[in-house]
Amino acid sequence: MNHENANLTFRRFQIVPMVCCGIVFLSLGMCILSSATAMAGYIPVLAGLSGMAALLWPAIAWIRTLSRLERLERNLAKGQPGLSISRSGGIASILARQCVESLRNFQAQTEQSGQRQNDLSLKLQLLEKQKQSIEQIIHTIRDAVVVVDGFDRIVLANSAAEQIFGFSARSSLARTVGEAIDHPEFVASMCHIRQSKLPHLKHELTVKAGDHLHVYDCIFSCIRDEKQEIAGVVAILHDITREKEISQMKNDFVSHVSHELKTPLASINAYAEMLVDGEAQDEQAIHQFCSIIQSQALRLNRLIEDILNISRIESGLIKVDKQNLSMALLMRDAVEMITSYAQEKNITIHTPPAILYDQVHADKDMISQVIINLLSNAVKYTPQGGSVSIESQVNEADGVIRVSVIDTGVGIPPEAVDHVFDKFYRVEQNKKVAKGTGLGLNLVKQIVETVHGGRVFVASEVGKGSTFGFEIPLAAGQQITAKA
Ligand code: ADP
Repeated sequence: MNHENANLTFRRFQIVPMVCCGIVFLSLGMCILSSATAMAGYIPVLAGLSGMAALLWPAIAWIRTLSRLERLERNLAKGQPGLSISRSGGIASILARQCVESLRNFQAQTEQSGQRQNDLSLKLQLLEKQKQSIEQIIHTIRDAVVVVDGFDRIVLANSAAEQIFGFSARSSLARTVGEAIDHPEFVASMCHIRQSKLPHLKHELTVKAGDHLHVYDCIFSCIRDEKQEIAGVVAILHDITREKEISQMKNDFVSHVSHELKTPLASINAYAEMLVDGEAQDEQAIHQFCSIIQSQALRLNRLIEDILNISRIESGLIKVDKQNLSMALLMRDAVEMITSYAQEKNITIHTPPAILYDQVHADKDMISQVIINLLSNAVKYTPQGGSVSIESQVNEADGVIRVSVIDTGVGIPPEAVDHVFDKFYRVEQNKKVAKGTGLGLNLVKQIVETVHGGRVFVASEVGKGSTFGFEIPLAAGQQITAKA
């Protein structure tokens, strides 16, 4: 449009020199006529010539300017600005200079606005990219994020939030948080922080997911606009279910430990006091009191040892000394250690007739402890006259050895079987059968699974007996030889 205007102006300038040229030729004709008719000397001729010269000069200058302007127009069209107009000259030159100046300004402005348009579209693309990557980040984070506007309408919710509350963010956009999310406590907190205008609000929330309850640490924050008005609320939910469980387990552990330690200590204290007060009248009573103190001290020692071993394994601080060992020899040594205890209860211990020299790469003391714990439990929970057998099987295909301790004892009810390897767990029905700490099987599990990469197993039937055992990997490249 501006370019057309420039062309129009340009054409208007062409009329002016044409008029000038007409005047020049008119005066020239009149002069020649007057000289021819009057023949009265040279004066009128000279006057005519000088008038003609005076008028011809600006016309010539204008024609030159015009041709320059034409060239300038051509250059501009080709995108090559730059043409100098003579600084000298008359009105035509001045007008032409102004015209060139305007055209230059116009071209510069056009270039500037083109540049600005390019810059703006680049900025727009950049902003779009930034928006997409921020959305991607929000959607990938494991914590749930829900954002509402100043009218409690959903603006954004990531995948974690969709999963926790079981709703679709896409179809909930512009719906209120109360309409989209079926969790009255969460919705109430979101509305409360917006109304109360608190900067932040921390809240612990429990959400049911199937059969499980998940605990979330929620932080609600108000979003303020440039006028400091509340423009919305953002809620971030961090799953703390595991931390809660661990802290609960720690609390249980501490209370269990103190309870377990207190019982033998109280017993030791009571019998020691009786001895000091001279309540033991004869040798036999003194001996009885002393042996109770001794057994309670041993129990205390076992308890402390078990607690320390479990916590050392759990924290990874225990020193493990693995070497190639024969499992059959470890089993034989453990049976020897338990025999006197079994004899006290008239329990027979059966060992397999053939010994397989089955090599495992294991910590000798730890695996011995595992076998002794299983054997002593078998004897402990088997009534007088029962039997206990220990056997091992090598599974070459899986590269593991399986050790089983089978008893004819009291057995374990089905609902308790899954818990026997838990810390401090004692089967209610069996508490009267024998004393214990509820730590022996947990230690077995820690040694087998955490230290040796194996697994423990149990099968039991009330009144018939139990089979406890474990599997650990065989030593690499071991030679298996059978010996009668
Ligand atoms: P405890 O010191 O109480 O024996 P354990 O951790 O060794 O602790 O065992 C946990 C519980 O598992 C025991 O209290 C007992 O009820 C049950 N249990 C373990 N071994 C046997 C078994 N061979 N027969 C029956 N019950 C058993």
